Amino acid sequence: MTQSDTVFVQPAYSEAARQMLARKPQLFINGAWTDSSHDALIEVEDPSTGKVVARVADASDKDVDRAVAAARAAFDDGRWSALPPMEREKAMIRLADLIDAHADELAELEAIDNGKPKTMAAAVDIPSAVSEIRYMAGWAGKLNGETAAPYAVPGGKFFGYTLREPVGVCVQIVPWNFPLLMACQKIAPALAAGCTLVLKPAEQTPLTALRLADLVAEAGFPAGVINVVTGYGETAGERLVRHPDVDKIAFTGSTDIGKHIGRNAMDTMKRLTLELGGKSPVIVMPDVDVAEAATGAASAIFFNSGQVCVAGSRLYAHRSIFDRVLEGVAEAAPGWAPRPALDPRAQMGPLVSGEQLDRVMSYIAAGKRDGASVVTGGDSPSDEGYYVNPTVLADVNPQMSVVREEIFGPVVVAQRFDDLDEVARAANDTCYGLGAGVWTRDLAAMHTLAGKIKAGTVWGNCHAMVDAALPFGGYKQSGIGREQGRQGIEPYLETKTVILRL
Ligand code: ADP
Repeated sequence: MTQSDTVFVQPAYSEAARQMLARKPQLFINGAWTDSSHDALIEVEDPSTGKVVARVADASDKDVDRAVAAARAAFDDGRWSALPPMEREKAMIRLADLIDAHADELAELEAIDNGKPKTMAAAVDIPSAVSEIRYMAGWAGKLNGETAAPYAVPGGKFFGYTLREPVGVCVQIVPWNFPLLMACQKIAPALAAGCTLVLKPAEQTPLTALRLADLVAEAGFPAGVINVVTGYGETAGERLVRHPDVDKIAFTGSTDIGKHIGRNAMDTMKRLTLELGGKSPVIVMPDVDVAEAATGAASAIFFNSGQVCVAGSRLYAHRSIFDRVLEGVAEAAPGWAPRPALDPRAQMGPLVSGEQLDRVMSYIAAGKRDGASVVTGGDSPSDEGYYVNPTVLADVNPQMSVVREEIFGPVVVAQRFDDLDEVARAANDTCYGLGAGVWTRDLAAMHTLAGKIKAGTVWGNCHAMVDAALPFGGYKQSGIGREQGRQGIEPYLETKTVILRL
């Protein structure tokens, strides 16, 4: 028996998953499951096997228009925004509880659809999705305006205050790397603010968004408040973004598509938040416990097969410990050897698609052509499914595409540095600015780097720790706006100023 026979066999799906995969392809519009206006379908693959396991509707223009019309009507008649905030909060908590109650099934669907290990989905994706909704539910009743005394007119002559109002109909377009988590992170602030929405999951990973729609119905949201439309980005996504009845776009995905969406959204001046790509540095200072930092650097890049917008894809280790850090990351790599997503031993699964596999392998090939050396990995261990071994590249320079561009795979490039200013400059030598990790026990170094690095989040002695209460977003070309925390609800609110002459 070869190694691949032993390792790359996806265990059987559960009965609940099989039922979900066999469902009739439909869209969730105006509180009900409905057929598409045409017969076009999208094939859904299990990346652990490369086999098609389900088909979902490929929404037509008519379908998109129906979904937007449902969200528009639900917003305009106030069936959601005019509810007492306590009722919105309660509905959201019911939804969070239902997701929690279906956690095992949702984790399995995520594993089948995206290729991530079910154990990871169960430990990270599903509980984080729940906490995004629970956290934002609490804001529903705390969205107050302010009073302000006018500045340039005599006191007592005028009275001014602000009202916070929901922005309206939101289109929320999410990627395939954390499908349910991204969906919940998007819908939660919109719902708390009183908006209605159309959610479009990525064409590669629609399953948990569809299952979420079942739970939305069960939680008792008014019809039309949450609509879920499956479809391709260049058709359904494009129409949603350009739709004149939509007030706000929230998008997470690639920087190129984000820019394109931004241009389209501007035509009708839609409100816009973008969470885009990254090329996040991980900086290891000379004072660290090398074994601990190397283990941390390995998970910073190999978690979710490196398909994380804040993946620690550029490793900078101080010259005095560089060799030992590199050795430590290479030693950690076998623990991340890819396995089928439903294998309980899996820490890392396959990449999401054949397209991503080709993309990642062509970056590795380009790196080698440019003179990088492969410390570990660099290959795909199976002909079936989309597996890439955890890969460490050394002997790189800042001009190489593997150092400059977002690979979105389990590939890290390692470089040396001598001093703090030099590593801060290197860390910032990128068009991105989403996250950065710093490993050190030296408080002065930590705070100095936290100040110098141009990124939306700087982690100390950890990486990719994300919490619903803490704003998340990018500097530079990593995005516009913030999600999570109090800041995360702001983009879903308009501010109206009222001025009275007394
Ligand atoms: P990736 O390149 O990693 O697959 P994308 O940025 O292409 O990520 O996709 C993220 C999401 O954006 C998906 O839901 C996809 O369908 C959607 N999308 C892609 N192109 C467009 C577009 N032109 N307009 C709106 N949405 C799009």
